[in-house]
Amino acid sequence: MSEVLDRYAEITGWAVVNHLYQLAAPLKGMKVVHVNSTREGGGVAEILRKLVPMMGDLGLDVSWKVIKGSPDFFRCTKGIHNAIQGFRIDLSPDMLKTYETINAENAEALRPVLEDADFVFIHDPQPAALINFCPNRQGKWIWRCHIDCSRPYRPVWKYLRGQIQGYDASIFSLAEFAQPLPYPQYLIAPSIDPLSEKNIDLPEEELEAVFDRFDLKPDLPLISQISRFDRFKDPLGVISAYREARKMVPLQLVLAGGSASDDPEGERVLAEVREAAAGDEDIHVLLLPPDAHRTINALQRASDIVLQKSIKEGFGLTVTEAMWKGKPVIGGDTGGIRLQVVDHFTGFKVRTPEGAALRIRYLLHHREKLKEMGNRARHLVLENFLLTRHLRDYLALMIGILHGFEDRIDVTQ
Ligand code: UDP
Repeated sequence: MSEVLDRYAEITGWAVVNHLYQLAAPLKGMKVVHVNSTREGGGVAEILRKLVPMMGDLGLDVSWKVIKGSPDFFRCTKGIHNAIQGFRIDLSPDMLKTYETINAENAEALRPVLEDADFVFIHDPQPAALINFCPNRQGKWIWRCHIDCSRPYRPVWKYLRGQIQGYDASIFSLAEFAQPLPYPQYLIAPSIDPLSEKNIDLPEEELEAVFDRFDLKPDLPLISQISRFDRFKDPLGVISAYREARKMVPLQLVLAGGSASDDPEGERVLAEVREAAAGDEDIHVLLLPPDAHRTINALQRASDIVLQKSIKEGFGLTVTEAMWKGKPVIGGDTGGIRLQVVDHFTGFKVRTPEGAALRIRYLLHHREKLKEMGNRARHLVLENFLLTRHLRDYLALMIGILHGFEDRIDVTQ
């Protein structure tokens, strides 16, 4: 029994936590390694920070490794990321060589751990080629793709597909993302941790404090988008939506984000955002440090409405975080957001800044609807998108993979 896990029972009920103990029992002591490319910044790091210790609490021998790379490597992997999400980006043979060389170097350092593990989960394209440099691997290797690869730019997908041939299974967030691969594909939606600093309840004074700290006006409705400064998140579209909505309702906007060490484009996008926001004292562009979890929590809670106007999104953790705080979310009608936001029920899905502006105005004029949608949003997250469900899916997948094609798997002993 783990004290940490037992605390989740207060939120989810005991059945959920007992189910985790039951599923973990046959996996006890197994060596599990997660590998990604950054320890902070972005949704994958956010998830691993919670998922890894919880697997440990359940008795698995789990570790989290982060690959190291040069600026050229991260430029290349950002190119792969953007191309897999649909941008036409051609990668030169030199860039691909860098990608492979850096993976080979990381494999050199991590080989003993990787080859010895029972399960290796490789997150996203950056470390995907490690497998090709671990010829004596013993365990099962699973490629966990967090991004929207429903319509990848074909030449880059073809290259990546070549790199990931050797896996035993893959995981995608949505059925639409799955691509033909020579092994089983599993669907697992990401999650948030209700007990983390980012999501726990906060005292009222802490919400008031963010108004002071960032010079926000306490009596003016607040909308926000919290995201890395990335074109796929469409921060400029958010500014346009705010400007359009503001013609009819008084409003202030927070665009807050940090950078991720594996994302070389952030600074450029931030500069564009600052330029677009210049001269408007009610647009607050905040660059936050990587550990600003409580601040983000407070900003989300202080908002009347949260936006996530992405044009591509694997699964927006920020959407789920806001919904957990009882906020209606106006999200881009794309990728994972389609699964997260139930249109007209927990928020709205939009395609344009004008569409977002319309929904902002509607919600600010219909406060009772805003509240109703927010309450439903929280409930939807409770039922579907908490860490406990995520962990359950991982454990079930591991048991499934271990037992291969057996007709019956008994986890009751
Ligand atoms: N986040 C953060 N600081 C920031 C911006 C975002 O801690 O300045 C967090 C955010 O709260 C969320 C995660 O980073 O937990 C972003 O995950 P998401 O899936 O929304 O987007 P990604 O960055 O992975 O594309």
